[in-house]
Amino acid sequence: MRGAVLYSPRDLRFEERDTPTIIKPTDAIIRISATCVCGSDLWPYRGINPVLEPTPMGHEYCGIVEEVGSAVASIKPGQFVIGSFFASDNSCPNCQAGYQTSCEHKEIIGTAQAPLLRVPLADGTLVLTPEVPSNDMIPSLLALSDVMGTGWFAADAANVKPGKTVAVVGDGAVGLLGVLSAKQMGAERTIAMSRHEARQKLAREFGATDVVTERGDDGVARIKELTDGIGADSVLECVGTQESMMQAIGATRKGGYVGYVGVPHGVELNGEELFYAHIHLHGGPAPVRRFLPELIELVWNGKINPGKVFDLTLPLDQVAEGYRAMDERRAIKTLLRP
Ligand SMILES: [Zn+2]
Repeated sequence: MRGAVLYSPRDLRFEERDTPTIIKPTDAIIRISATCVCGSDLWPYRGINPVLEPTPMGHEYCGIVEEVGSAVASIKPGQFVIGSFFASDNSCPNCQAGYQTSCEHKEIIGTAQAPLLRVPLADGTLVLTPEVPSNDMIPSLLALSDVMGTGWFAADAANVKPGKTVAVVGDGAVGLLGVLSAKQMGAERTIAMSRHEARQKLAREFGATDVVTERGDDGVARIKELTDGIGADSVLECVGTQESMMQAIGATRKGGYVGYVGVPHGVELNGEELFYAHIHLHGGPAPVRRFLPELIELVWNGKINPGKVFDLTLPLDQVAEGYRAMDERRAIKTLLRP
């Protein structure tokens, strides 16, 4: 089969790779219905994370079970499944606490931009849809694999509740779906921080009531202005830079919550500033597995349509163009169909 391989910064190739097979009895092989390019794929693509050797890419997936190992009990060939970017047993103490991305037996999924994918710990990792979905539902189901689950975790970690005021730092796909999550969780007011018109428009469609274009200290000042000088109850940090993190902390009211899901790159927090900020800080790699059953139900019943973040759909063999479009910010997020 052919799949995506990153050789060096901006050298992404679609080339022959080994066809995955069952290695352990707990594995499953999935025939991918759709996969996509993640904002975090752009870190190595841009050379911000080093690329040490040719690396297969992709960690977002949904599709039809092709084959299962002898120990897999909960899924069978022909069923449609979605899983997270970390395989997890869903039974160890960390999984039971709802932190499946810190599973004691976690395994990273990193080869999903291909027609076939091996998923370890299939019983713990994969969640079934009620039946095989129609083609038009697949983008929204695919979004649950990472980007929607991550936006949802940001909102959950930021304690979004009915009637609250929420601010979202970052207008990438995760930030936009953080807006959607806040709306779904009952936020009264959601302030999206974005300076890109197309993204502002989608943020409003997802439920943003206000848009702030300023960044850094000016962005914080604008949030304060909009909240009678107090700050937002819940702030979702969906970027991972020093500026975005400080913007999130600064925009939060005393006693408020920051949910942070942007993978930190060079972020350093000052202990004393943090002490006097008087906030709750919670984040990390989103335990998407925890939210999958609830999110599948919301998509299945037409309550949310997170697939709208895919503004570019390409055949898988054009994956290199999918990366380029996101790198150059011509696309918010690229969906790929094998
Ligand atoms: Zn576990």
